[in-house]
Amino acid sequence: MENKIQELSERLTNQIAAGEVVERPASVVKELIENAIDANSTQIDILLEEAGLKKIQVTDNGEGIEPEDAENAFKRHATSKIHSRDDLFRIRTLGFRGEALPSIASVSEITFESAAKNAAQGTYLYLRGGEIEDKQPSALRQGTKIVVENLFYNTPARLKYVKTLQTELAHIGDIVNRLALSHPNIAFGLVHEGNQMLATSGNGDLKQTIAGIYGVQTAKKMREIQAEDLDFKIKGYVTLPEVTRANRNYLSTIVNGRYIKNFALNKAIVNGYGSKLMVGRFPIAVVEIEMDPLLVDVNVHPTKQEVRLSKEQELTALLSKTINERLREENLIPNAADNL
Ligand code: ADP
Ligand code: MG
Repeated sequence: MENKIQELSERLTNQIAAGEVVERPASVVKELIENAIDANSTQIDILLEEAGLKKIQVTDNGEGIEPEDAENAFKRHATSKIHSRDDLFRIRTLGFRGEALPSIASVSEITFESAAKNAAQGTYLYLRGGEIEDKQPSALRQGTKIVVENLFYNTPARLKYVKTLQTELAHIGDIVNRLALSHPNIAFGLVHEGNQMLATSGNGDLKQTIAGIYGVQTAKKMREIQAEDLDFKIKGYVTLPEVTRANRNYLSTIVNGRYIKNFALNKAIVNGYGSKLMVGRFPIAVVEIEMDPLLVDVNVHPTKQEVRLSKEQELTALLSKTINERLREENLIPNAADNL
């Protein structure tokens, strides 16, 4: 008699994982950009059609993949980023779970081209629903180009869940902005249906990157913050209390180069303003935090945007205090904001 309990096929487990990792087009954009960042790219270009539902193309000039590794990149739990249990506690890369590419591939059609530096030739792969249907040598020079088409073509329930193109595009814009803010040293380009939505210079200057994203006028109304103690190094920019937004979407917290969602850190930023903010208003802030990777557990959720921070209270106290002191300095000089 056949066993009642059987292992799921790789194809099915990938689709199940895709349910967590690939919620919407923005999730695909995020994962592909993170891979490009991990490959030490200095230029990342994203091209979209129909808010990514028809097509998402990400091109980078990073390290690329050797021909013998190309197929492995699409295998479940296959990664070049960690090899041992110890590595898991010292994660420096954005990826490490080895599930993004197989998950995305299982719910779309993928054209993949990659070439490692100085390699004789690159590799071309075409996958549909996670199955490799074509493999050829490719003429691509160093870097990687991934085209994801017809996302969710084989998961009708997920396709139905996707919101209007405008909403999906807004989600993509939001995540690309934050990835660009976390990597001022990478030049990002985002184009939707021929319209340039974002272009950053990649010259490493955070304030210029902020100006490119939130506008020059807003950047002018931001002040630099900086602090350091035994465990944490904080730097970034926060707006003067008069420049606010109606929601927390303009608070970006970056831990060791990873943009994270963390309620306590957002609250610490707001607390730094004391009673200076109107009720229901929030500042714009970009805060980079460096700490020992041993103090950060990123293995909490498949999308890795939620993390657990050890010594969180110490960090939030330092952050609030730093912002508060910086804004108090500002009050000593009347109208300093206009003197830029
Ligand atoms: P993870 O990022 O967690 O390792 P992924 O499924 O996202 O898993 O990617 C699998 C592997 O494919 C990566 O570990 C990396 O070696 C390789 N890879 C993916 N995208 C790129 C890229 N743009 N450039 C170079 N290598 C890449
Ligand atoms: Mg990845």
